Amino acid sequence: MILRVISLYLNERWMNFMANIKVIPCSGIGKVFGLMARETVLQVTNKLLKDTTETVCLAHLVTGDYEAKEKVEGFTCITVDGCPALCSAKSVELAGGIVKKKYRVIDEMRQHKGINAGTGTELTDDGWLIVDEFAMKISEKIVEIIEEEQKNV
Ligand code: SF4
Repeated sequence: MILRVISLYLNERWMNFMANIKVIPCSGIGKVFGLMARETVLQVTNKLLKDTTETVCLAHLVTGDYEAKEKVEGFTCITVDGCPALCSAKSVELAGGIVKKKYRVIDEMRQHKGINAGTGTELTDDGWLIVDEFAMKISEKIVEIIEEEQKNV
């Protein structure tokens, strides 16, 4: 009986831990790299790892919204920024998030030189393919992080 209770407790603790990985894109309104960052994060949090990740609205975080800060402070976070300005990474760190990995769309695009990914409001088919590939890469890293952190729980 005691073993079962311990097992249930550990399982619940693990599920809570796993559900708390935050993946946060920059806002990047009007820029294709910003749109790609947002769409990539949505692929991760709504499709690929929907049971283990969630996103947080960066605008709420920046304006000091209590609930948004509470979701991030002290939690493992992954940021996805459009460019070297790193708006998401900087804001998440400022809010107390533990940023384990900072991604930038601009780095992904270096591997797809000459490709037209779209505009600030609409991606091309090629743009969507890059987003799919990028989301897969981020998801693989998140699984690695989860496995690493699982060892320390
Ligand atoms: S990281 Fe770059 S693209 Fe994203 S919001 Fe900041 S300036 Fe815009």
